[in-house]
Amino acid sequence: MTLLARLITEGKTALHIGGEWAEASDGGTFPVVDPATEETIAEVASGTEADGIAAVAAAHAALGPWSESAPRQRGELLRKVFEMLMERERDFAELITAENGKALSDSIGEMRYGAEFFRWFSEEAVRNRGEMYRSPAGDKRIFVIDQPVGVSVLITPWNFPIAMGTRKIAPALAAGCTVVLKPASDTPLAALALADLFAEAGCPPGVVNVVPSRRSGPVVGAMLADSRVRKLSFTGSTEVGRTLLEAAAARVLNVSMELGGNAPFLVLADADLDAAVAGAMQAKMRNAGEACTAANRFYVADPVADEFADRLSQAMAALRVGPGMEPGVDVGPLINATTRDKVAALVEEAAAGGTVVTGGRAPKGKGYFYLPTVIKDVARSAGILTTEIFGPVAPIVRFHDVDDAITQANDTATGLVAYLYTRDERKGLEVAERLETGMVGLNRGLISDPAAPFGGVKESGLGREGSHHGMREFLEPKYVATNW
Ligand code: NAD
Repeated sequence: MTLLARLITEGKTALHIGGEWAEASDGGTFPVVDPATEETIAEVASGTEADGIAAVAAAHAALGPWSESAPRQRGELLRKVFEMLMERERDFAELITAENGKALSDSIGEMRYGAEFFRWFSEEAVRNRGEMYRSPAGDKRIFVIDQPVGVSVLITPWNFPIAMGTRKIAPALAAGCTVVLKPASDTPLAALALADLFAEAGCPPGVVNVVPSRRSGPVVGAMLADSRVRKLSFTGSTEVGRTLLEAAAARVLNVSMELGGNAPFLVLADADLDAAVAGAMQAKMRNAGEACTAANRFYVADPVADEFADRLSQAMAALRVGPGMEPGVDVGPLINATTRDKVAALVEEAAAGGTVVTGGRAPKGKGYFYLPTVIKDVARSAGILTTEIFGPVAPIVRFHDVDDAITQANDTATGLVAYLYTRDERKGLEVAERLETGMVGLNRGLISDPAAPFGGVKESGLGREGSHHGMREFLEPKYVATNW
């Protein structure tokens, strides 16, 4: 039996609150659609405001014992969940592909990345050390203890149905917080399967609650207004993040925001082109381009621009597009019709001023597919350079001067990640310092790592996930002044 069939049969396409599976308080459900077939694969309970509040109450009731439990005990639970996820990697990967559409190879990659947060934070759970020192005036001792911030509301997007949740749950639990997760309405199933796995691993009821809803705004709004909630950790679009920051301001909530990106990918004239094309394929095509880290605009030095465009086009054209579950498929469908149509409109506008080298259309038939596309000599004014594409499209702009390329790379409101290829490491580090982003891939197309601080500057967000910084987001320092 597949994991999806088991969830449906056992009544686990419901809300997970206080260790119990429950229908929505008004009996409402919403459909989850397979983007490859456009067919409904499950009906999931749609949480209401009352359900959100019930989940907050469950998380609050569990908070005391959980935050006081031994760090080692919390770490061992996280380690167990890591091992269970690795054992069930294939089952979970198939579930991710069923609800999100991505190629099975991408889902397996996501599972390995997502599970690793549990291993990493199982190790961090026992390293919450605090500080003690004497004041400069010598009049007192300064103790600093880092305490869990409290009940945390976690909100995740659809593009990584498991990893965006694990990246928040693992540090929250390691720090001693309890959580209510509101997964994306397009992809709630992996989060529900994860809640089930936590219960099986022996997680105390109420520590991890999951409330899917098709009415995200009101349900999240009700939770954020509840005085028992102390933290909001959000991953999603800058637009929704801005709205949630306003809501959080009313209660001065502790917030972490992982928002949208518009990553530039710079290829300098001395770059190793084989490496640059391989890196471009990783940075662009992981998840069919549906990643906040996806290379969104390619700035390539004039002497190598045509060759780079040709080689990238060959690699893109060689990818196999099809239902993610089929063996050998590299690129699955996009998440829904709206996203596919948005990608098509951006390509149409960019193609008017540039040259489509490969792709440039949606194939006929069922499913929200779009062909891997390269457009070269895109006009600097094209909307595709200022919009997060979230699809398999690589627009290329040629540059003559590195300073000008850096100016163009920085000419955006967001600042999540930038990529840079050059054989000159000194030059590379110099340019990396000037790029206004939270992360830089220097001669690398893949940067995500649970041991590294992931996050953006400018309108790409606040705070970091992963590394020891990730756990700090769920801790608050308390200073005790004393003498002896
Ligand atoms: P989204 O902002 O539409 O939705 C994100 C989550 O917020 C979903 O769970 C959604 O149901 C919920 N939501 C929507 N409206 C809400 C509201 N008014 N109140 C409360 N919750 C609400 O984003 P998406 O389309 O799911 O994901 C794509 C976006 O996420 C892209 O912009 C991408 O760059 C970004 N993203 C960022 C990172 C990062 O780490 N920086 C990672 C992945 C995705």
